[in-house]
Parts: sequence; structure tokens; C-alpha cells
Amino acid sequence: MTTKDMKDIVALCKRRGFVFPASDIYGGINGFWDYGPLGVELKNNLRDLWWKAMVTCPPIGPDGAPVEIVGLDSSIIQNPKAWEASGHVGGFSDPMMDCKETKLRYRADHLVAYLWKKSEPGKEKFVAFHQEAEEEEKSRRLKKIGFSTDLAEYQKYDFNDPAILGNLANVLGPDAREFGTLTEPKQFNLMFHTFVGATAGEDNKAYLRPETAQGIFLNFKNVLDSSRVKMPFGIAQIGKAFRNEVTPRNFIFRSREFEQMEMEWFCKGEDAKKWQDFWFKERVKFWKSLGLSDENLQIRNHDQDELSHYAKAGLGTADIEYKFPFTAPDFGELEGIAHRCDFDLTQHQKHSGTKLEYLDQTTNERYIPHVIEPAAGLTRGVLALICEAYTPDPGRPSGVYLNFTPSMAPKKAAILPLTAKEEHVPTATKLYLALREEFAVDLDVKQNIGKRYARQDEIGTPYCFTIDNDTASDGSITVRERNTMAQERIALDKAGDFLREKMKG
Ligand code: ATP
Repeated sequence: MTTKDMKDIVALCKRRGFVFPASDIYGGINGFWDYGPLGVELKNNLRDLWWKAMVTCPPIGPDGAPVEIVGLDSSIIQNPKAWEASGHVGGFSDPMMDCKETKLRYRADHLVAYLWKKSEPGKEKFVAFHQEAEEEEKSRRLKKIGFSTDLAEYQKYDFNDPAILGNLANVLGPDAREFGTLTEPKQFNLMFHTFVGATAGEDNKAYLRPETAQGIFLNFKNVLDSSRVKMPFGIAQIGKAFRNEVTPRNFIFRSREFEQMEMEWFCKGEDAKKWQDFWFKERVKFWKSLGLSDENLQIRNHDQDELSHYAKAGLGTADIEYKFPFTAPDFGELEGIAHRCDFDLTQHQKHSGTKLEYLDQTTNERYIPHVIEPAAGLTRGVLALICEAYTPDPGRPSGVYLNFTPSMAPKKAAILPLTAKEEHVPTATKLYLALREEFAVDLDVKQNIGKRYARQDEIGTPYCFTIDNDTASDGSITVRERNTMAQERIALDKAGDFLREKMKG
């Protein structure tokens, strides 16, 4: 199998208009990205399919009846008291280490340390790397400092291991030239803040939401009072989230502004296990239906020490992980399915003074429900889809194609008049005008046909419809299939039916 190189994927994303660095003409800004003409189509497709799978067409529950989920779009800035109640003001922080030499800052839990076998007893030497650093980057660094580049000669340590933290004087930081320049870890809050109104003071301080989930808890009562939902039920939301990540890395995988797709499923505490299992299976099924392959997906249960404050008491969190080219052979988180217990609603009830209980009309029982939360990254999902679709193929002019499923492809079909001759263009334009009412299609008139096919391969368009001399005589067009490059002829007036059929699969 040909390996996928992240540099090539990032280059294609820029060249073809999927993702650009934000403020590109000013040299960019670390951790921020813009989605170009095709990137926004792809992101919208993922967003819409998630919304369909959650809100408009949610799955059939374990008891055979369809589950009930309603949507929400809450504000990015909320009353700052909400973030105190949720624990984000006091606790949404990561352990940070500064490098006194380079002034760079690292997340301690993102570093790994290697003990060099050849170091002397009592004077053990450790080399630190970012856990997401590629092998090539590690070798370059080891060579530069005159150590062996064979990682088998090193013993790998978790950076939080006391053997490392107690030995900081003998640790070489990831970008430093001198040993012992990393400081002890200290907590760093990840929330961006701003000031609301004309004056900038503590009284006006507000936060950009670091997750969409809290907006859902804040509206739990509003939704109960205004709709006919009955326990168990869910509230789903898609939107921007902001985290002042210390080391934004790996393209759009970890950025400072990103989008989340979160659903809070409210149920009775005793049913939490049943629902966590249910949602876990449904979420894996969802990602597979979009084309992510079995071999690139993995399920991982969080260790007790990495669980969030709210999840410690409950069933914990299970992650769906994807094998990204920069994590391979390891995997990186794509979605977490957490049991948040009754933590959030209890906290908001306490801090706001508003009752956030559910009243069961049949039994007259009042209780604060438990929550199972499937929380996925929309932008991280886009990256997984691009990485999965990226298929190097030296045998074709573009050298690569994006193997998106038809439902995910930014353009479902390209309509190509074989030549810019008079009779081909009007027929192509007519077909384009008819199809675009229903599908995202492209009309591409200029350049030779080979170049136009190559462009469509690179942007992942599954079908090209070509209008040629035979179209006028027998009313047929050529369909070229992206992956096989095979061509067949179909009737011009059946192009819509053809696409509709393909979109189902
Ligand atoms: P990580 O451990 O990678 O920092 P997390 O466990 O803090 O992530 P959650 O708070 O569970 O992440 O957020 C839910 C989802 O949001 C994640 O599974 C991921 O897909 C996405 N996500 C979180 N942080 C980022 C980020 N900085 N950039 C892009 N997506 C993110």
C-alpha cells in the first residue's frame, strides 16, 4: 500500500481550495484555518449528515422505537457564571512546561521522553519529543545532537513519570540545545477571554465557549418547557468552539478555533450503561458509513487518570480513534462518548438557583437526569475524511485522487463538454442547470478533457458526464467513474436518475 504523506495532503488542500492558513497573506496565525470553496462544501456535507443522523432521522433505539433528539444553536458567549459552574474557569487547564532557552511552551501530557541506553548510571540522559512528532522529525533531531538515530536504543517514558519530572536537569527539551531548560509543569487555562461592553475590567470579562455542550445544559429547562420531549431524549448542537491550545499541531487536527458536533442524551442514571453502549455502536456505524475503514478505526477506553472531573464517578469515556498519517501506527481521538453523570445539571442548578429536574408525569418522580455525550470534532472529522480519501495513484495524470463517498464529495458530478464547440456547450449548460437544482455539480468548459478529468480526480468528484458528438445524434453521454476511470454511456435524460441512485449507496 502506498503511504500517505501529510505534507502532500496539506499541499493538495491548499492547491485545490479545501483548507488555507488563516490570514495567509500576513504569514498566517498559528492554530487558525480557513475553509476554501471545496472545504466548506465538504464540511457542510459532514455537518448535514451528522444532523440527519441525530436530529431529522435519529436511529431506532434498543426497544425498537425511534429515539427523540431536538436541535439547538446557542450563543458562543454566555454568562461567565456558567463557566464557573461547569468547572471550566477553575479546572479547564492543562499542565504546561516552558523552555527557558527557546521560550516555547509545551503541554506536559503531550511530551514523551526517551532514555538513552548509553547514558551512564546516575546520570541518565533523556530526550523529549512532542508525542505527535513524526519519526523523521525525531531522527533529524537525534542526529543533530549527535545521538544514535535508532529509537530501539532508547526506552520510552510517559512524560508525567516521576523518573522524568524528578530529573528535569537531565532532560533535553524538544527544541532546546541545552539540557535542563524545561520548567516544572504548571496549570494553564485554555479558555479565550474577552470583555463585553465598552470597559475592559474583571466585571465585564466573558469567555469564548471551549465546548458546545454547556449551551445545551443551559437550555435544558427551556427545551423541556417549550417542547414535548419525554425522557430519555437528546439535544444536539453543532458550532464553533475555541481553546487556546498550547501546541496547535498537525494541520486542522488540533486548532485554536474549531467546530464540534455534540449531543447530550438525557436518561435515568440506571439506564446510562445501556445508552452509552447504544450510542457507542451508533457512532462507530456513522463514521463507517462515511467511508472510514475498519483498519483505520479503533476504540479506546480512557484510563482512570485521564478522565474529566465529571466522568470519574461514572462509566468513563470511550473514544473512537482514527489512524491519521501523523499518528500512525498509533491513533488519535475523533470522538469521545462520555458518561457525564448528573454533574453539569446539578452544578448549574446549584449556581443559578433554578431547578433543573425532570418531572415524570406518570410516576410523579422528580430527578436530575444523567447524560451520555457523543462529542465529535466536525473539523477533525473533515481531516479524517480527507486522509482516508487521499489515494496516491502514479498511473493517472493527477497522480492522486480523493476517494470520497458520493454523499461526502464536495461535487457530485462534473459536466464537461468535450470541446468548447458550439453544439457541446449549450447541451452541457442545460444539463448543468437541471442537475444543480438537486446536486452540487460543476460545469467545466475550458482545457483539454484529460486536464479536466485530472482536476476532478484531485477534488474527489465521483462522476464526470461528457457531452460529445454522439450526444446530438443518439442522446447519450459518457459517464467516467473516478476510482476505476471506466467509462460507460447513459442517456442524457437519465443523468439525474443515475446520480440519485448513486447517492443512496
Ligand atoms: P484532546 O484530548 O485531543 O485535547 P479532548 O478530549 O479535550 O481532546 P473533547 O473535549 O472531548 O476533546 O472534545 C470533543 C471533540 O472535539 C474531540 O473528540 C475532537 O474531535 C474535537 N476537538 C477537541 N479539541 C480540538 C481542537 N483543539 N481542534 C480540533 N478539534 C478538537
